[in-house]
Amino acid sequence: MAGGNVRVVCRFRPQNRVEKECGGKICVNFDDKNTVRVQSEHGTRKFVMDRMFNMTTPQGEVYSYAAKPVIKDVMDGYNGTIFAYGQTGAGKTHTMEGPSLRSSTDKGVIPRIIDEIFEYIEQADPSIVFTVKLSYVEIYCEKIRDLLNPSSVNLPVRESRRAGVYIEGVTEKYVSSQEETFQVMEEGNLSRATACTRMNAASSRSHSLFILTIGQKNQEGSTKSGKLYLVDLAGSEKISKTHATGSTLDEAKTINLSLTVLGQVINALTDRKKKHIPYRDSKLTRVLQESLGGNAKTTLIICCSCSSYNCEETVSTLRFGERAK
Ligand code: ADP
Ligand code: MG
Repeated sequence: MAGGNVRVVCRFRPQNRVEKECGGKICVNFDDKNTVRVQSEHGTRKFVMDRMFNMTTPQGEVYSYAAKPVIKDVMDGYNGTIFAYGQTGAGKTHTMEGPSLRSSTDKGVIPRIIDEIFEYIEQADPSIVFTVKLSYVEIYCEKIRDLLNPSSVNLPVRESRRAGVYIEGVTEKYVSSQEETFQVMEEGNLSRATACTRMNAASSRSHSLFILTIGQKNQEGSTKSGKLYLVDLAGSEKISKTHATGSTLDEAKTINLSLTVLGQVINALTDRKKKHIPYRDSKLTRVLQESLGGNAKTTLIICCSCSSYNCEETVSTLRFGERAK
């Protein structure tokens, strides 16, 4: 894996109706599997990443390259994180969840991971006892809210020698099938949507973290545990675009801060010369501390529109991905 345990891939979605109606044209060209050229008013810019997925890349291919390799690691007792990064509407949720968790062809990364994990368990040595545990939280304005217990709105992050870094008091649900897992995720998605409506906020301003912990115990009593964070990040669009003022502006700044810190952390991880990794500078990176870097595998999926209408955002999104390498 290039850049050690950090992999950065990029996915472009097709133009949507609004972009076409506004006269948008496709502004990207793919030289090869790793390279895209973006044409903007300011000229052509070239970006290189571990993999470029174009507008016709199916969900299964994104999964196979960007997510599948992480599963083996988690089953071997390591941690991992998969992020979707990009402006609102660029395809983060489409990539992570898909239009539906149960769609056979179009489902996203998360339901495919869940299928694979339960398949793995089914085929494993029957003397191994597996436990699959789920948590689902969102981070909004540096506060952690439990999506499986909506009354918990500001959960603290703690650290202990035994447990490492953890979210204190977060709901943990044990599941034993794909279907149960999907139900837990849907329950969380529902409470996310409800809370947003109540606060008059858009879910695009919060980071959602779906957390899977797989425990194993064999006949001799030895145990291992791997944790996988599946993160649908807040929209990366610039503040000016949303015409934010007052509290919305503060909110926008906090969101941009946590994305900036995430970029710095990933950058520091890929740069051998940098010893200090600023995990503590945001809630998001603090929570993810033990699943970023070290033996943990990290995949960043950069999501972009291919339309000239969103060209500026696309370039700034790609620059984030480039800096992360
Ligand atoms: P985000 O979560 O980044 O805000 P979404 O995933 O909700 O964006 O995508 C916005 C819209 O674009 C959705 O209607 C989605 O179905 C569509 N879309 C996103 N990515 C793709 C893709 N690769 N192919 C087809 N449609 C896509
Ligand atoms: Mg989304």
